[in-house]
Amino acid sequence: MDIGEAMDRFVYVLEGDIEIANPYTGERMFQSSLGPTQFLGEIGFLSGSTNYLRMRAAVDTRVIEAPRAGVLELMSRVPELSDHIITVFAARRRKQFELGNAAVKVIGADRDAAVQAVERFLSRNRIPFQSYDLDGADPETVQVCTLIGREPAVILGVATRLEDPTPRKVAQYLGLDLAICAQRTYDLVIVGGGPAGVAAAVYAGSEGIEALVVEDTAVGGQAGTSSRIENYMGFPTGISGTDLTWRGQVQAMKFGTRFVMPRRVEGLSRREDGAYCITLDDGDELCARALLVATGVQYRRLPLANLEELEGAGIFYSATEMEARFCARTEAVVIGGGNSAGQAAMYL
Ligand SMILES: Cc1cc2nc3c(=O)[nH]c(=O)nc-3n(C[C@H](O)[C@H](O)[C@H](O)COP(=O)(O)OP(=O)(O)OC[C@H]3O[C@@H](n4cnc5c(N)ncnc54)[C@H](O)[C@@H]3O)c2cc1C
Repeated sequence: MDIGEAMDRFVYVLEGDIEIANPYTGERMFQSSLGPTQFLGEIGFLSGSTNYLRMRAAVDTRVIEAPRAGVLELMSRVPELSDHIITVFAARRRKQFELGNAAVKVIGADRDAAVQAVERFLSRNRIPFQSYDLDGADPETVQVCTLIGREPAVILGVATRLEDPTPRKVAQYLGLDLAICAQRTYDLVIVGGGPAGVAAAVYAGSEGIEALVVEDTAVGGQAGTSSRIENYMGFPTGISGTDLTWRGQVQAMKFGTRFVMPRRVEGLSRREDGAYCITLDDGDELCARALLVATGVQYRRLPLANLEELEGAGIFYSATEMEARFCARTEAVVIGGGNSAGQAAMYL
C-alpha cells in the first residue's frame, strides 16, 4: 500500500509480517510490524480518505482483503468489532502526530495567508503534517525548501506535489472532499459541522438515518478553536474542543454518517416531491428528505481599513496552536473581553 492510494480496502493479516517503509530511503521505519491477527489502516479508512503510510510485506505474507463498504456495514452491525477497529485506528492517527514525520508536507512562508489557510485546515481537521517555512533558517528547512523549490506547495509522499495549495485543493488531494453524487437523495443533510451538527450526525447515524454533514471550514466549528471546554457532560476534568468534536465525528462516521468539507452551502430550494435541495459553492446540488441547519455564528467584524486583506494574515478569529505559531516573536493584541478573549489571552 502506498502513500496517496485511497483507503478502499480492509487488510487483515493471516500470516507473515507487514512493515512500514520510509518513502524516501525505502528502509524499514520501526522495529514493530503487523503480524497475524492484526490489520492495516487508520482512522481515515472510515471516510475513505488517502493512505499516509507506505506498507509492504517483509516476508511471504497471507492476508484477507475486504472492500471498505462491506467492512463499514459489518462494523455498524457488530459493535464489538467496530469498537476494536476504531480504538486501533484512532491510536494510529495519534501516533502519527507523536512521531512528527508526517507524509503530508506543507512548504510555504508562515506569513503567507494562503499557506496559513491550508495549515489551519489541516490542523483543525486533524491531519498530521509537517510544515517548512520558506523564511525559516534552520538547516533542515533550508535544505527541504531548496530541494523542493521555493514556491508554496503541498507534498504527499515522494510522488505527488500540489502547487498553489488551497484548503479545497488539499481536501480533494487527500480524499476528504468526497465526490458527491448529485442525483443522490439523503435522508438528512446537516449544514454545519460544529458541535450541534456533529451531535445531530451521531444521533442520525445511530438511528440508521442516512445523513451527510456539509461543512464550510473544518469540523468542530467554534468549539474546534477552544483549548479547553469544562462544562460538557461526561468530561469532569475538561477536554479540548478539537478532541471533543473529533470524538463526535469518529462516532458519527462509525454509524455511517458522511462528512464533506470544505464545502459551503449557498442556496436552498424545495422540489415538487417535497425534498429539500441545497446548492453548494461550486453549483453542485444535493437533496434530502430533511435538512438540519446548524450554521452557528458569523463573527462581527471590526470597522477597520484593510481588514479583509489582513484576515488570516495577522488578524485571526481564534487562538489555537496554529495562530500562536503565526504570532511567534511578535506582539499579539486580543480584542474582546468575554470568555473567548480571556481564554485566548491565557493561551497565547
Ligand atoms: C474560543 C471559544 C471557547 C469556547 N468555550 C466554550 C466552553 O468552554 N463551553 C461552552 O459551552 N461553549 C464554549 N464556546 C461556545 C461553543 O463553542 C459554541 O456555543 C458552539 O460551538 C456552538 O455550536 P454550533 O454547532 O451551534 O455552531 P458553530 O460552532 O458556530 O459551528 C457552525 C459550523 O457551521 C459551519 N457553517 C456556517 N455556515 C455554513 C454554510 N453556509 N455551509 C456549510 N457550513 C457552514 C461553520 O464553518 C461552523 O463550522 C466557546 C467558543 C469559542 C469560540
